[in-house]
Amino acid sequence: MITTVQDMPQHIATYITELKAALTGASEKSLLAAKVPQLIAVSKMQPQARIDAALESGHRLYGENRVQEAQGRWMPLRERYHDLTLHLIGPLQTNKTKEALALFDVIQTVDRPKLADKLAALLQEESHSWRTQECFIQINTGEEPQKAGILPSEAGDFIAYCKDELALPVTGLMCIPPAEDDAALHFALLHDMAKQHALPELSMGMSGDYLTAARFGATYVRVGTAVFGERASS
Ligand SMILES: *Cc1c(COP(=O)(O)O)cnc(C)c1O
Repeated sequence: MITTVQDMPQHIATYITELKAALTGASEKSLLAAKVPQLIAVSKMQPQARIDAALESGHRLYGENRVQEAQGRWMPLRERYHDLTLHLIGPLQTNKTKEALALFDVIQTVDRPKLADKLAALLQEESHSWRTQECFIQINTGEEPQKAGILPSEAGDFIAYCKDELALPVTGLMCIPPAEDDAALHFALLHDMAKQHALPELSMGMSGDYLTAARFGATYVRVGTAVFGERASS
């Protein structure tokens, strides 16, 4: 696999092809993998030339972690690429929920009751046709105080609340393991949790561990630097 990525957009199509092949290989060898994970190319803070290269290669699934940055980049591109799919993978402030529901196909970061309530209320307004079709619940598998997400011990109640009381279209779970831990433990935990709650989608794995995630049954991996190269710091 490629570990250093040069600042050359023409290489991006190759990286995407190789990454997808590696994901296919890893998941085919795994008993936990129900399907080959889809590659979410994480475009946050990347120069437009690199995104254009990925789009020209035919890639259509992207992830962003900030609503405003994503609006600026993707609203114009949506006119040219009608088959784009966008996932929100970063924290969502309650006052940005309308913008998020209008822009993202999937909101992966439902991480607290207040946000779930707000999303549910807006989704039930019949006068709107929101773009969002699916929500994932973010689980704080490492129980890190500074990190967003539902604690594993509270996941069952929260999933039931979102699905049964709010009728949110919850289809999966996502996690961001602690940087210093062996990610495999967190991926195994999330896999079990999704299975227990009959949720088909699992978003886990980033540039450093997407193959591990594929082995543990990820259905989406979120990869930024291994596709596009280093990004500008925020
Ligand atoms: C930025 C980001 C990624 C991508 O990280 P890389 O290490 O560049 O692959 C994945 N998931 C989330 C939630 C992110 O914010």
